[in-house]
Amino acid sequence: MGSSAKSSAVPDPTASWPSLFMPGALAKDVSIVDCTLSDGTETSCYEITVAGTPADHEVGPFCPRTTTATEEEVGIWLDGENLYDVTGEFILDLPSIYNDDEWMLHDGHGHVHVTDTREAFEAAARPDVAEEYENYCVEGRMEWLEDGEPVTTTVQIPVSPVRQDDATPARAPLGVSFNGVRIDAAAPVDAILGAHTIAAFDDCGGHVNPFEGYHMHAATGCGEVGEAPDGETAPFAVAMDGYLIHGVLDSEDIGKVGDLDACNGHTTGEYGYHYHARSPELNGVLTCYMGATVKGGPGGPPGRGGPGGPPPGGEGPPPHDHN
Ligand SMILES: [Zn+2]
Ligand SMILES: [Zn+2]
Repeated sequence: MGSSAKSSAVPDPTASWPSLFMPGALAKDVSIVDCTLSDGTETSCYEITVAGTPADHEVGPFCPRTTTATEEEVGIWLDGENLYDVTGEFILDLPSIYNDDEWMLHDGHGHVHVTDTREAFEAAARPDVAEEYENYCVEGRMEWLEDGEPVTTTVQIPVSPVRQDDATPARAPLGVSFNGVRIDAAAPVDAILGAHTIAAFDDCGGHVNPFEGYHMHAATGCGEVGEAPDGETAPFAVAMDGYLIHGVLDSEDIGKVGDLDACNGHTTGEYGYHYHARSPELNGVLTCYMGATVKGGPGGPPGRGGPGGPPPGGEGPPPHDHN
């Protein structure tokens, strides 16, 4: 599972988090703009444009090529309940994992069906998967993106978080990571599985779709900055409401720090209020925000959600929120 290059930056709640972005994580300098939040607050926001390619690790690997592929050669899959390494054995076990004999992602001779061309990828990574790409392991490559370039994402995030009385549901993008990647909402797992496809993630919980480029769905420890004290984890991202997102807390740590709130957040002396990413198998880094986000929805004002403004749908069969 995920390697994580850690920078030496020490997170300090009084320091401004834009300094935590790793070299290469941003496509533009951070600027401060006027913004209006969902609760009507007129304030200042950071405008952040992430590079869309992780600054601290390679993209991939995703799918196995053979039914003997081992953990080191492949990425992961998560379905809301379990986290799997997408090994050859996983491919062979799919009919029993999902209790469905129609699963057959290999040719019976050890070769796994993988979207190996841009055309195959685009046909498989869309709302209605072309029939010939059912029973495929779906993966995209950065070089298949428009002009072969990473897709940048621009967001506006309040400089000072404004705490709300009630939680609001999180929408994509949920935030941006300090290694330069957008964090998307839950992947539409039911639709992906319904087409007998596996939209594999790399060990850092990210994958590529034609619209958003590389984006992440699960926190596995990549992109964390600084060292956290015992019982805590380091931050790896900022959420759209301006609170930081720290790595997953294991159950032992939760025992020490006490329960997290409905949005998986809590307040500590060292970090102030912050979130912890949900466990990767749960599909979705956060489900809600406790702070106000920029009016017009996460991603900033209309039309600024990111170049090319991703249409709904993407890698999954039937359009869901994103994918
Ligand atoms: Zn914490
Ligand atoms: Zn996705």
